[in-house]
This record gives sequence, C-alpha cells and structure tokens, in this order.
Amino acid sequence: MREHDKIRELLALAAADALTSAEQEQVAEHVRSCIACSNELGAWRPIASELRRLPTPQPSSWLVQATLARAEAKITEQAERDWNRRVMIFVLSFAWLLTIASWPAFHFLSGRFGTLLGPPFSHTWISFAAFTALGWLAGGVAAVMLAIRLRGERRLA
Ligand SMILES: [Zn+2]
Repeated sequence: MREHDKIRELLALAAADALTSAEQEQVAEHVRSCIACSNELGAWRPIASELRRLPTPQPSSWLVQATLARAEAKITEQAERDWNRRVMIFVLSFAWLLTIASWPAFHFLSGRFGTLLGPPFSHTWISFAAFTALGWLAGGVAAVMLAIRLRGERRLA
C-alpha cells in the first residue's frame, strides 16, 4: 500500500520521462502488477507527449493554455475521486458506529416491552434486523447530507 502511494505520486513524472532510471524502473515494475497505477500512467501519457510536442522556441500560448488546463482538470478529477472514496468510507463507518453504539440501548428498551409481545428470542432478532436497517438508513442519510454540505463548502473555498 505504501509503495502504491509512493508510485502514484511519480506517475505524472514517469509519463514525462522525468525520473531517474532507477525510479523509472521502480514505476515500471509496480505498474505491471497494479491496474490502478497502470491506468493512471496511461491517462498521463497523452498529456505528457503533448507537453513534449510544444514547440520549444516560442510555444504558442493557446496550446500551452490548453495543455495546462487538461493537466489541471486531470489533477482535479483525481482529487475528486479520492475525496469521494473518503466520503464513502466515512458513510459506512458512521452507519456502523451508529448501529453498534445504539443497539444496547435499543435492546434494553425492547427487552422491557418485548416480553409482552411474544417469544423473546425471535422478537429480538426481528428487532435487530429492523433496527440495523434503521441505523444504516439514518446513518447513511446523515452522512450524505453532511457530505453534500462539505462539498458545497469546498466548492466555495
Ligand atoms: Zn499502484
């Protein structure tokens, strides 16, 4: 995992042939076994070759602008994807935490009233299933709302 992160930072430079041969070797070896990095490198290559094609004496400014804009869009898109993944992990952990944290309280309450309604064992399991679903729903909704708000703030920043 650590190597994957290290290599990922080098991919743009690798596409531009701007690494030392040892680094280039390291990247090549990782890319052979990592589809994510391989795709990432593939996405950088056309941008890098476009950069190389820029006329050296007097780069026409629209080409520079267009290439820079594409590189920037690529970086933004990548940041967005990382952010989405972090939000997803947060949503899942939040839903789980909510379920786990509030289950004992619910169990206690349903234990007091549940005995009136039928066999305690099956009642407990039905409650647990219903409660888990509710916990996930509430956690998911709360986390998604939070995510939308955070994203709005991020856009403004
Ligand atoms: Zn990788």
